[in-house]
Amino acid sequence: MNNNIFGYTLAELEEASTQAGLPRYRAEQLFYWLYNRRVDDFSEFHNVPRLIRESLSEKYIIRKPLVRKEQTSADGTQKFLFGLEDGRAVETVLIPAESDDRDQPRRLTICVSTQVGCPLDCRFCATASMKLKRNLTTGEIVGQYMAVQKRTDARITNLVFMGMGEPMLNMDNVMRAVGIITHEKTGGIAASRITLSTAGMVEGIRRMADEGWKIKLALSLHATTDDLRLQLMPINKKYPLAVVMDAIEYYYRKTRMRVTYEYILFNGLNDGVEDARRLVKIARRVPPKVNIIPFHPADVSSDTDAATTLEATPRWRIEEFADALRASNITVMLRSSSGLDIDAACGQLALREPASLQHPS
Ligand code: SAH
Repeated sequence: MNNNIFGYTLAELEEASTQAGLPRYRAEQLFYWLYNRRVDDFSEFHNVPRLIRESLSEKYIIRKPLVRKEQTSADGTQKFLFGLEDGRAVETVLIPAESDDRDQPRRLTICVSTQVGCPLDCRFCATASMKLKRNLTTGEIVGQYMAVQKRTDARITNLVFMGMGEPMLNMDNVMRAVGIITHEKTGGIAASRITLSTAGMVEGIRRMADEGWKIKLALSLHATTDDLRLQLMPINKKYPLAVVMDAIEYYYRKTRMRVTYEYILFNGLNDGVEDARRLVKIARRVPPKVNIIPFHPADVSSDTDAATTLEATPRWRIEEFADALRASNITVMLRSSSGLDIDAACGQLALREPASLQHPS
């Protein structure tokens, strides 16, 4: 195990405590100081005796991702650039919104990255231009949330793994991070307010079902035929629609949790009456919710035809498409384009490294 203790789960802290000859309750104290009080140094662990603190600091370090740059959009969305230990960087977005439920306070959603870059090469997504640099560690995932919460007065109410990367290609670290954030001792976020979004990694979906995680699942669907989906998302070759949907059905049968489908509308490509009809049919295999996302043109240089012809569906036709789904009794949400002006909207996260760190604007 590495010596950066920030990112250790409670079980790992217990193991480390046992090795150091310390009683189990010390692990709980460490867990509390690291993730609830979010301290940066062993000297701040006030109820831990000095000798223990000193021996801990000989063995371990506490290192977290650091905010290097912060931008605020006209709509209140904030984007944070995090510098990582190896000089790489990722982005995290904080999105304020009214709650769907009037009895609930205003919603504040953090959108967390799980990889530096992404290997999936979806034609419409800016992160694809970075390719995959590496997976984020548990500490780097938890650290994005903790650092942003520390800088924000209002409580972050929801967390979505919809930043850079494919969470299900870094499942171990993502799930460890979920375990830490949802633990009652960290005072973090309830599992029911966390959503993991996947491009359709079948093993990951089945694993989420088998392990009984109580977080929500979202599937980036974006097309209703294998032909088109393959053009847009190369991963569809490995996991065609039928295989993904079998996994989704398996997930629902085991968890009884509703699944969210994300569907970007591309002008003239996937936004017709037939598309809506097929989408209803696919989505209905389990109790669904459909999130319609306006396409945010991103500066992705790709030589495929699909990429060069992608355009956003005009607003009135987006409404029409949503109404067609609603007419079939599907719950539909129109995702806003929060943060568009600072390149913080869905699919716009991309960094040219390390230039972004050297030239903060
Ligand atoms: N890899 C995961 C997590 C990324 S989530 C996944 O694919 O689900 C980010 C969401 O934004 C996904 O639904 C993604 O398909 C969508 N997205 C990507 N590029 C976009 C763009 N240019 N415009 C709108 N949405 C986009």
